[in-house]
Amino acid sequence: MPITNEEASKIKEHLLTQLDNFPEDKRSQIADQINSMTNEQIETFIKQNNLTHLGGQCIFCSIAANKTPSYKIAEDKNYIAILELNPLSKGHSLIIPKEHLDKIPESSKLITQEVSKKLQDKFSPNEIKINELKIMNHALLEIIPIYGDETQKKQASEEELESLQKEILKAKDIEIPEKPKEPKIEEIPILPPRIP
Ligand SMILES: [Zn+2]
Repeated sequence: MPITNEEASKIKEHLLTQLDNFPEDKRSQIADQINSMTNEQIETFIKQNNLTHLGGQCIFCSIAANKTPSYKIAEDKNYIAILELNPLSKGHSLIIPKEHLDKIPESSKLITQEVSKKLQDKFSPNEIKINELKIMNHALLEIIPIYGDETQKKQASEEELESLQKEILKAKDIEIPEKPKEPKIEEIPILPPRIP
């Protein structure tokens, strides 16, 4: 099965984080090579190097273990939330289970709500979309604030990501009053108590 563009770009991102392992004068050349690889070339490369679990670890396991640098915006016992490096919109984030699971567990609701709420309060998008993805068999959620002018995913600069991360992390310190306008997340219906 050919890899998707999404997977290819994630794999490229991961490979680019490994540049520090190369001599400084070779890095830009290697980065250019990585960036110019087609999906097919990436796939061949992954297979040839037996990297389906890059170095024994998938990209997202590696991010969750802090082995691959990322822009973290929230974390709990089982999940880490980071900024997407190629965002569709301002605040586009990923919720990654720390375990290599192929399905997102129910327990992801809390951190998903926390992150959505922060993005809603900080950036006031029209709505927040939540999609489940599976990349290299690691299930994750993407949280995309929708402002109505989204066109395509675009690589964010380090400066953009850093300032965005700061802004979102700052939101934590602000006491957010309960607002009636909650991000659109499925509510668990509360059943009335049963009369025996
Ligand atoms: Zn994984």
